[in-house]
Amino acid sequence: MAQSIGFYGAAETVTGSRHLISIDNKKVLVDCGMFQGSRELRDRNWEELPVPPSNLDAVIITHAHLDHIGWIPRLVAEGYEGPIYATKATIELCKISLPDSGRLQEEDAHFSNKHGTGNHHSTVPLYTEKDAYQCLKWFKHVEYNHWHELPGRAQFRFHTAGHILGSAFAEIVFQDGTNLLMSGDLGRYNTPIIKDPTAIEFADYLVIESTYGDRLHSHEDPLQKIASIIHDTMESGGALIIPSFAIGRTQELLYYFRVLQDQGRIPRIPIYIDSPMAVSVTHVYEAAKEELDEEMVKSVEAGRSELEPEGINFVRDRETSKALNSQRGPIVIVSGSGMANGGRVTHHLLHRLPNPNTIVLFTGYQAEGTLGRRLIEGAKEVHLHGEVVDVRARIEKVNALSAHADQGEILKWLGNFKKPPKDTFIVHGEPVAQEALQSKIVKDFGWKTTIPKQADEFDLA
Ligand SMILES: [Zn+2]
Repeated sequence: MAQSIGFYGAAETVTGSRHLISIDNKKVLVDCGMFQGSRELRDRNWEELPVPPSNLDAVIITHAHLDHIGWIPRLVAEGYEGPIYATKATIELCKISLPDSGRLQEEDAHFSNKHGTGNHHSTVPLYTEKDAYQCLKWFKHVEYNHWHELPGRAQFRFHTAGHILGSAFAEIVFQDGTNLLMSGDLGRYNTPIIKDPTAIEFADYLVIESTYGDRLHSHEDPLQKIASIIHDTMESGGALIIPSFAIGRTQELLYYFRVLQDQGRIPRIPIYIDSPMAVSVTHVYEAAKEELDEEMVKSVEAGRSELEPEGINFVRDRETSKALNSQRGPIVIVSGSGMANGGRVTHHLLHRLPNPNTIVLFTGYQAEGTLGRRLIEGAKEVHLHGEVVDVRARIEKVNALSAHADQGEILKWLGNFKKPPKDTFIVHGEPVAQEALQSKIVKDFGWKTTIPKQADEFDLA
C-alpha cells in the first residue's frame, strides 16, 4: 500500500487548484480548477495533466468557485468518464457557473479572432457551453458527514467549510488508516447566511489555503458603510452601482440590505440585481436549507426570505437591463462582474461614470489590470467598449467583505487540532502570503510545514 499527493495547481499561486492523490495504481483528483489572472497563468490551462484524464478513477470537488471547478469541462472533453463527487449545493452552483464559463470562453475566442488579438491559445475556446453541459452528467451528490468509498479501498467524507454555499473539506482515509484533510478554501466565523467552518481535531496530513495568509481583514462595519452610502444615494438622487460576484457576495449584500431595512436604518429604494447568474444563484441559496445557519433557517421556516429586501427586482433579460440606463435615481444596481472587467456592469458604468451623482461601490478584492483596480486607484478617464469615459462618479469600497479566512481566522481554525499533523502543505496563496502563514504556524504551533511547488509530489505514509 502506498499513497501520495501531487500538486498540479494552486502551488505558489491562488488559482488552478488540482491535487492528484495516488493510491497504489488508482488516481483521484481533488478539485479541477481553472488558472486565472495573467496570460502566463491562463496559458497553463492548455497544458496536459500528468495523468491522461481517461486514467483518473475519481474526482472530488470542494466548492463551486471557478479556480476549483473551471477545468472540469475540459477534463471531460479530454476523456474523463467517472464520478465527480460534490455536495448537493456545489452541484447546483456548477450547473449555473460552468455553462456560463463555457459561454465566456466562446465569446473571448470570438473576440480574439475578430480583433486579431491574443495568441493561438485565445482564438479557440478552452471549452464550449456544450462541453460544460456534457460534464454535468458525471456529478454525484455526496452528503456531508457520510463516508463514501473511493478506489484503492480508501474512503472520504465532506465537512462544512463555511466559505460559500456547498463548500466542504474532504477528509480522505486510506486503507492503512492514514488520513488526509483537503481543506479547499477555508471560510470565516460568524458570517451571515451559511454555517461556520467545522472544527477539525485530527489529520495526519493537512492541505491548507493561504489566500490571506499574510493579512487581517478590516474591522470596518459593512452595515454602517452600506447604510451611509445608501443615504448619500438618496440625497444625490443618482445611481449606486455595485459590481459584485454572482456567488456569495451578491447574496451577502442582499442580506445586509434586508437587515438595514429591518433595523429602520435605510429607506426603501429600488434595488436591481442585474445578473441572470446571480438571480439563479440566489434561488439556489434560498433552497439549500441544510446549508444555512440557524438564523436563516428560522426565517425560511417563517416564510420570509432574508435575501429579498423590499424594493428588490431581479433582472434576467437584456432588454430590462438596457432599460435601466434611462431610469432615474435614486436606484441601486448590483451587477457582475465583481472586478468590473466584463459583464453587464460595464454597460452601467459606461452610462453612469460621467455623472457626478453616481456612486460606485466595490465589494471585494480588485486584481491588478482590472477596471475595478483602475477606478479605485483614482483614474480620471477609462476605456470602456471602445469609448473614452470620463470618471466623475464617486468611487468607494467596503473592505470587510471576504469569503476567505484571514491569517487570524486560519490560526484560530488550526488551533482546534489536538495533535500536530505530520505535515501541513500550504497552497492557494501568493508566495509572500504562504511564507507569512508558514512562519506564523511554526511560531505558534511548532508544526512541520511545506510549501509545495508546481508538480511536487509527496508520499503520505
Ligand atoms: Zn473559493
